[in-house]
Amino acid sequence: MSRAELLVDLGAIRHNVRRLREIAGPGVAMMTVVKADGYGHGMVPVARAAREAGADWLGVATLDEAVALRACGDTGPVLCWLTVPGEDYRPAVAAGIDITAYTLGEVAEIISAGVAVDAVPRVQLKVDTGLSRGGAGLAAWPEFVRAAAEAERAGRLRLTGVWSHLATADDPDHPALALQEKRFADAVAIAREAGLRPEVVHLANSAGTVLTPSTRYDLVRCGIATYGLDPAPGVTEGLDLRPAMTARADLALVKRLAAGEGVSYGHTWVAERDTVVGLVPVGYGEGVLRAAGNRVNVWIGGAERPIRGRVCMDQFVVDLGPDGLDADGRPIAPGADVVLFGPPTNRRPGPTAQDWAAALETINYEIVTRIGGRFTRRYLDTDGSTGR
Ligand SMILES: *Cc1c(COP(=O)(O)O)cnc(C)c1O
Repeated sequence: MSRAELLVDLGAIRHNVRRLREIAGPGVAMMTVVKADGYGHGMVPVARAAREAGADWLGVATLDEAVALRACGDTGPVLCWLTVPGEDYRPAVAAGIDITAYTLGEVAEIISAGVAVDAVPRVQLKVDTGLSRGGAGLAAWPEFVRAAAEAERAGRLRLTGVWSHLATADDPDHPALALQEKRFADAVAIAREAGLRPEVVHLANSAGTVLTPSTRYDLVRCGIATYGLDPAPGVTEGLDLRPAMTARADLALVKRLAAGEGVSYGHTWVAERDTVVGLVPVGYGEGVLRAAGNRVNVWIGGAERPIRGRVCMDQFVVDLGPDGLDADGRPIAPGADVVLFGPPTNRRPGPTAQDWAAALETINYEIVTRIGGRFTRRYLDTDGSTGR
């Protein structure tokens, strides 16, 4: 035990990767997305667990993330997709990373890096089909793929993939999804006409993988579902995905509070009756969102207990009830286990990361990705099935 830790169940990660591979079906490669430190779960341990469970590819945002995977010994296919002009592409090219280009300027920079390290860079081309984020615009796409194909014929790079990203995959009836699929099919056809022979063509994120088989193409890029969380409420219901992260702490202090006393900065909560409060030694310095004050519950002594007053940088206060008793009628003592969120079990149905997201009007992605700071991480391996 430690004062504040994130328990990450690598067995759950492996289970989820296997389940998602089954859902994607035969002939579809699995890319496990481990950007942003594995959505807060730890990039390297998650990457290893994912590979063990059959992830063909790993996906990250930055060159540095990709190179860090190589530094810890990963030798398989890795794709990254967000660079800025002037970045040093050489380590990633030398490491055989697939780098995504959105513009001919990027292609030129990647080619220069290839010359510098005497390697043929692996480049994937991204088309913006309607997310209006990264990727070549539709108007620029024909010229972009033609010029890139020419560079490939000259032996300066290998074009390994063509891909795009969905804006509304969690809402398959949204008209934007059909439009993106149509635009993507057209863009792939244009790329093939220009002579591209990509190893992989891909479009789907977690939600696309689960809800819309036609988005699966050669490969699916699964992030949030790998961690056992829903891309949007209900999307993965019944699929037996298992949340991998539990955020917990030791209760620092327990004390009585008299009616009329205010709690934490600004006294945004005032006790209406005598009660017992507990002090939890984590705060927004650890990514426990300040907005959780007076809005979120945590699990202590066999029940959910409300956060009272504002969350501070290092700590927050919870209401343990008028008698401060646990579910068995014993006084809750300092050192008691506080679970901020974790996988739901029969014994502890909540709070989950999704409960936090709902209460804070955000998404579970933000809850798990932001929590960190002075929490330590501890890795468990239940093979995703015990303890519930
Ligand atoms: C983050 C990301 C993903 C994964 O999305 P999930 O919704 O977490 O499955 C896939 N592709 C790209 C380009 C991404 O940036």
